[in-house]
Amino acid sequence: MAQTQAVRKDWDTYFMDIAFMASTRSRCPRRHVGAVLVQGKKLLGTAYNGAPMGVPDCSEAGCMIVEEFEPSQDGGAMIKKQRCIRTIHAEQNLLLFTDRNDREGSTVYVTDQPCWTCANMLANSGVSEIVYHRFYPKDYEKVAALMQQRGIVFRRLEGYVPPPDTEVQDGSA
Ligand SMILES: [Zn+2]
Ligand SMILES: [Zn+2]
Repeated sequence: MAQTQAVRKDWDTYFMDIAFMASTRSRCPRRHVGAVLVQGKKLLGTAYNGAPMGVPDCSEAGCMIVEEFEPSQDGGAMIKKQRCIRTIHAEQNLLLFTDRNDREGSTVYVTDQPCWTCANMLANSGVSEIVYHRFYPKDYEKVAALMQQRGIVFRRLEGYVPPPDTEVQDGSA
C-alpha cells in the first residue's frame, strides 16, 4: 500500500487509525477491538477490550471461553462458536471512561461492528454516529435496525486499510 506523501489522511481514516492503534493494547489473543470517541474532530477518549483493572487478563489467565450457537454467515444452519467473555468490550470501556456530556452528538469510531449488547448501550449513550470497519455478521441486521430506529448514523468504512501490524494474525476468533 504505497501512499503518496502529499495526500493528507481524511478524518475518517485518521480516527479509525487511532481506533486500530488502541486495539493493539488488548491482551485477548482472540480479538483486538479499539474504539474512540470524537466530538467535532476532537478526540475525547480511547478504549480497547480488556479485563477490569487489577484483574488478570487473557494473556495471564487465559481466555474465558463460552460456546454459543449462532447462524452461519450464509444464514444457513446454526454453528457452534467459541467466544471469550473475560473482557469488557471496547465500546463499553469507552462509555465507562467518558462523560455523558462529551458524548452528546459525538461519533464513535470502532474497529469492529458493535455486538448487540454494545450497540444497545451505544444507542442510549448520546452518540449520534457510529463508524466501524470490520463486519460482524452475527448481529448486523438487528443492530442496523436499532440504529435506524434511534436515528443514529451507522456506517461501515469501506476501502479502509488498517495501519500495519494492528490486526491479530489469526482471525479465527
Ligand atoms: Zn480472551
Ligand atoms: Zn460488544
